Amino acid sequence: MTELAAVSVTALKGVGAALAEKLAKVGLENLQDVLFHLPLRYQDRTRIVPIGALRPGQDAVVEGIVAGADVVMGRRRSLLVRLQDGSGTLSLRFYHFSHAQKEGLKRGTQVRCYGEVRPGSSGLEIYHPEYRALCGSEPIAVEQTLTPIYPTTEGLTQQRLRQLSEQTLARLGPHSLPDWLPRELADAYQLSPLDQAIRYLHRPPPDADLEELAEGRHWAQHRLAFEELLTHQLSLQRLRESVRAQQAPAMPLAKTLPQQYLANLGFAPTGAQQRVGAEIAYDLSQSEPMLRLVQGDVGAGKTVVAAFAALQALEAGYQVALMAPTEILAEQHFINFSKWLAPLGLEVAWLAGKLKGKARASALAQIASGTPMVVGTHALFQDEVRFAKLALVIIDEQHRFGVQQRLALRQKGIGGRMCPHQLIMTATPIPRTLAMSAYADLDTSVLDELPPGRTPVNTLVIADSRRLEVVERVRLACNEGRQAYWVCTLIEESEELTCQAAETTFTDLTAALGGLNVGLIHGRMKPAEKAAVMAQFKQGQLQLLVATTVIEVGVDVPNASLMIIENPERLGLAQLHQLRGRVGRGSAASHCLLLYHAPLSQLGRQRLAIMRETCDGFIIAEKDLELRGPGEMLGTRQTGLLQFKVADLMRDADLLPSVRDAAQTLLEHWPQHASPLLERWLRHGQQYGQV
Ligand code: ADP
Ligand code: MG
Repeated sequence: MTELAAVSVTALKGVGAALAEKLAKVGLENLQDVLFHLPLRYQDRTRIVPIGALRPGQDAVVEGIVAGADVVMGRRRSLLVRLQDGSGTLSLRFYHFSHAQKEGLKRGTQVRCYGEVRPGSSGLEIYHPEYRALCGSEPIAVEQTLTPIYPTTEGLTQQRLRQLSEQTLARLGPHSLPDWLPRELADAYQLSPLDQAIRYLHRPPPDADLEELAEGRHWAQHRLAFEELLTHQLSLQRLRESVRAQQAPAMPLAKTLPQQYLANLGFAPTGAQQRVGAEIAYDLSQSEPMLRLVQGDVGAGKTVVAAFAALQALEAGYQVALMAPTEILAEQHFINFSKWLAPLGLEVAWLAGKLKGKARASALAQIASGTPMVVGTHALFQDEVRFAKLALVIIDEQHRFGVQQRLALRQKGIGGRMCPHQLIMTATPIPRTLAMSAYADLDTSVLDELPPGRTPVNTLVIADSRRLEVVERVRLACNEGRQAYWVCTLIEESEELTCQAAETTFTDLTAALGGLNVGLIHGRMKPAEKAAVMAQFKQGQLQLLVATTVIEVGVDVPNASLMIIENPERLGLAQLHQLRGRVGRGSAASHCLLLYHAPLSQLGRQRLAIMRETCDGFIIAEKDLELRGPGEMLGTRQTGLLQFKVADLMRDADLLPSVRDAAQTLLEHWPQHASPLLERWLRHGQQYGQV
């Protein structure tokens, strides 16, 4: 029998070019796709529920005799049909109905209907049920299985999708859909055969546990989630292997530059910085490319660690690229590295997307001719950027880049042959279980110590009805020589509205705080304007900075010790933590006021309470994960990183250790199964290992 993956959907009855096009929109091109297009939920049309046993909210099949059908006037004209079955009375209500419909529902007609039961003005009601009049003599069968409801797109009906899956299921067997999990593995982890799991999920029997299915805890879902996670693991491992097989420049430990750097730095590295620094230094001395993730809470001092890594490459005569996700952050790095490297006689080049014309051409020329240190945004990924002798790529705040982008820079090594070492720094503390899965291709170092002299930020949760008091507090702090941030959060995902709100707040606060110098920074300003405002704030010419979340990462002004965050309930905890990390960087006691808009939901209250109770990014990440689930915590920024069809990292976290072991075993004993699995689950350029 042909493998279903090799059969186009057009082989199914009723599928022509037009329908095939619609199917392609939901990712259905071949019959294997149809099988992996799993229902979102199910309806139970397998039994007739007595009217007396109906509960509001339930979707049910009901059968009864029409006791009366009247057009009633109410707020809107409707047809109200009363149905009785001996156990009770149910009303069917139609707001749109034809004369023929009304005639067909005459008193005494036997009707079978399906719909959602709701409490109505006349007892339980179903609005616009699906229904059919029964002609008496012959009993009509109920459905034999639960009814699947598939994800769909416009113009593609559930009925059509059901027909297609029906036809495909008829062709399903162990040969048409090979099971790439060998029997031994499946037995060891108690996984059922693939075709059984697929069949079950498309057509669950009447006694299936709907609750288990809804929560994704069913054995059939487990079977598929396991395979999907395993495949994800394989792809990252394969990626890792493909990188490890390449050559990177081995760079000896640096002696001179780090000493000079330390002498000018003004502080000594923490123990954690030294330890992580040594781990990196060792990696860099090897000819295998380094792939290392440094996790360190906000303010832990990752930049210094990056600088030491850079110095090792620079002393060996190579080039280093440092990339940050936003222009503000990249610019701060550019300023820091210029300051640090100038006394060492090393030049720093700058490249960002907004750099145009001559400036851009000259930056590209600098990079191509071998300027030692290059700092920029993801503009550094672009094809036209050619490095002369790139040996180390440093990516800051990795959570904004996906796997694909990580890969793009790896290919910019010397002459495209040598692979650069790679250092990734993130302040988004990722719970261990997730890190294992999301970063299986990386080694990890943790900066688990803050520089000395930091005082934890005191966080208060305050209703915005007390705004005036808060403004006074800002005035007091600034009059005492301190500086403050006032952060306006995202409005309905619209950057433009958010920037407008920041402008309004800026005007209001400038008026309210006459005598203080207030600045404004938001994403719609020109880079040069932003840089000028940041510089003024850094130098203390501005006392209050009104900002959008553009200041979320990297901004470093130690004298700022007060932060107001408006509508903190709109942000994720990780993001709040990042923002709050802008204060508490100097020796003065710092405060963060979370100015929420009442009423808060229960979840909202819980979340803000976590912020008040702890400043530890790892605890916050764990709690955030518990409350919201991983997709949301990591946000859409994680594109390409954590998107699964069946699996859910939070729900299936307990599977991850077995998945890792299973991936290992599979690679050892059945390596030839890896490619078909990748083929099945990761399509169209998602196959990390094949770049
Ligand atoms: P992050 O890990 O959030 O990127 P940064 O690298 O921006 O942190 O460092 C935060 C601040 O701490 C900076 O002002 C930096 O100069 C300072 N810093 C870093 N390491 C030390 C240290 N060992 N001792 C004192 N201050 C330090
Ligand atoms: Mg940083």
